[in-house]
Amino acid sequence: MRSDVPAYELQEPRNLADALDRMAREPGGWKAFAGGTDLMVLLEAGKLPHRKFLSIWKLPELRGITITPAHVTLNALTTYSEIRRHEMLAREFPLLCRAAAETGSIATQNRGTLGGNIANASPAADSPPALFVYDAELELVCASGARWVPYHGFWKGYKKIAKGEDELIRGIRMPRDKGFTKQFYRKVGTRRAQAISKVCFAGVARVDAGRIADVRIALGSVAPTVFRATETEKILRDEKPALATLRAAQETLAREIAPIDDIRSTARYRLRVAQNLLAEFCESLAS
Ligand SMILES: Cc1cc2nc3c(=O)[nH]c(=O)nc-3n(C[C@H](O)[C@H](O)[C@H](O)COP(=O)(O)OP(=O)(O)OC[C@H]3O[C@@H](n4cnc5c(N)ncnc54)[C@H](O)[C@@H]3O)c2cc1C
Repeated sequence: MRSDVPAYELQEPRNLADALDRMAREPGGWKAFAGGTDLMVLLEAGKLPHRKFLSIWKLPELRGITITPAHVTLNALTTYSEIRRHEMLAREFPLLCRAAAETGSIATQNRGTLGGNIANASPAADSPPALFVYDAELELVCASGARWVPYHGFWKGYKKIAKGEDELIRGIRMPRDKGFTKQFYRKVGTRRAQAISKVCFAGVARVDAGRIADVRIALGSVAPTVFRATETEKILRDEKPALATLRAAQETLAREIAPIDDIRSTARYRLRVAQNLLAEFCESLAS
């Protein structure tokens, strides 16, 4: 059933300080409204319990991409379209660009933001696996200051994140030049476009003289949160990407993930696909 729109309040703060000040004065009272692509779906379905929103869409302090020799920082309102078009991101962080290109439709990509995707905390979201393997950090701001936190420790459980009620995500920072020689991303959904993931897999590795010197793997849609498959990584690290190593890694991955049956897929299918994607990733390391 549709929501009763007049029951909702949407205000535009003058600037970021004004937004944070209002959130500090009434903790839990105001929530951010960025591109609205998640919130409007809930509103339309009559499933948006929160009533008071601050539109942050026009705040310049939350826009822009900054590059330094050590990092790239995407401010929270960076849209998928901006990510897709960004030359340096395409060169150095191709998995994030792939995730952006496979998120929803062009309309969703023009309006949906990276900060909104992170704050919405869906285990089926497409950019978090890429951000996990790139070791992203998040900048959280409130009226009294700012803090940086590692993204991997920020996710506390199904749709739960370690963000205070008075805090906004301001930026997402990724370190540059990790020397990865292989980067791999696959989203498996019902269709190639406009589909929510059944399984999403991101992997990066440094292969040195035929051995996997460093590797990071993250998956979405196979656990209550997106997560790094650190036990599987351990099996692969310092090994050659040979069949025996792959088999051991696939067994470990089966123990690490916790897929469920739901409207989009079955646990069995998700397990099989996750293992197949691991195999594809390992094959790419051998070539
Ligand atoms: C048709 C359609 C297709 C989609 N397909 C995909 C898909 O394929 N893959 C995928 O991952 N997602 C998909 N989505 C989901 C959605 O587009 C993304 O999650 C998007 O990134 C959300 O960003 P937003 O700015 O629209 O967030 P909003 O809807 O504005 O907000 C979402 C949540 O984040 C909070 N929030 C937003 N910004 C901040 C901030 N800076 N600080 C703190 N909290 C904040 C809001 O309070 C709210 O709780 C789709 C959505 C639609 C409608």
